[in-house]
Amino acid sequence: DDDRMVTPARRPEDVDAALRPKTLDDFVGQKAARENLRVFVSAAKARGDVLDHVLFFGPPGLGKTTLAQIVAREMGVGFRATSGPVIAKSGDLAALLTNLEDGDVLFIDEIHRLNPAVEEVLYPAMEDRALDLMIGEGPSARSVRIDLPRFTLVGATTRQGLLTTPLRDRFGIPIRLQFYSVEELERVVTRAAGLLGMAISADGAVEIARRARGTPRIAGRLLRRVRDFADVAGAAVVDAKVADGALTRLEVDSLGLDAMDRRYLLMIADIYRGGPVGVETLAAGLSEPRDTIEEVIEPYLIQLGLVARTARGRCLNSRAWGHIGLPEPEGTVV
Ligand code: ADP
Repeated sequence: DDDRMVTPARRPEDVDAALRPKTLDDFVGQKAARENLRVFVSAAKARGDVLDHVLFFGPPGLGKTTLAQIVAREMGVGFRATSGPVIAKSGDLAALLTNLEDGDVLFIDEIHRLNPAVEEVLYPAMEDRALDLMIGEGPSARSVRIDLPRFTLVGATTRQGLLTTPLRDRFGIPIRLQFYSVEELERVVTRAAGLLGMAISADGAVEIARRARGTPRIAGRLLRRVRDFADVAGAAVVDAKVADGALTRLEVDSLGLDAMDRRYLLMIADIYRGGPVGVETLAAGLSEPRDTIEEVIEPYLIQLGLVARTARGRCLNSRAWGHIGLPEPEGTVV
């Protein structure tokens, strides 16, 4: 899946760090999240407190890491980053926690992938700022409690429901990130073009924004690929025509769908007459893991209103038939 031009996952060529806004004011979109964070940050600062633990959830590439860094910067504290799968043993997490400076933000990406033993260490750390360590083995083993510096844990995950309840309950500030509108992505593209020193017209930015699947990371990636085509073609400015030509050659269609999305839609259309069809059946038919279907392919197709998840399975909406250019069968259920 990471081979896809339009995957929301980070790809090696993504220059995420270079394009990251550094303040809440610079951060485009996510109005509710931004305004709430602003309130919580200023209240904590006014009290001389650390910020309560924050959980960001939402699809990849929407700005969770960026917001975690912004939170640290706005609080005026240090930022340490790791990720769930990287913390193999509880000792690794203990080492991280004991090395924090007072007030630091500790960012754990993919926090739902922490192993359960490591997660246990996190509970008292988050709740009581303490570490319970076992000393010795067998009958003489005893537990000692170590105080930790004050810190804010910022967790990131794709879906809130992936977290265990005890972990989820320990975040005072849960924040859901949404897909961006085309207008918001146009601002993301224009801003990124400025940072990359590219000349882009307003309609060029809109063309890229429309095809970026509601996701700033994809917008940045498409922008850089379009620049390559523009450079080779000797185009001084990226306008809608240049952007469309480049993205069409990259097989990213007018809605930002690629070959994988079209395979998914065509399977439901051709083989299941528009559905309903169960996700397991689709996974088998497409030779993709169920997770990839649910986490990567479907969210954007559902967001666009092409596909509906129903109790009986997945169904195509009228808009999908129009987009793939097939006639909608008579008497469909949706
Ligand atoms: P996530 O952690 O959710 O996967 P990131 O924070 O790494 O996403 O963001 C991915 C890329 O998108 C980065 O290059 C980042 O600068 C850019 N980005 C994300 N959100 C915004 C935004 N609101 N405004 C501008 N750029 C953004």
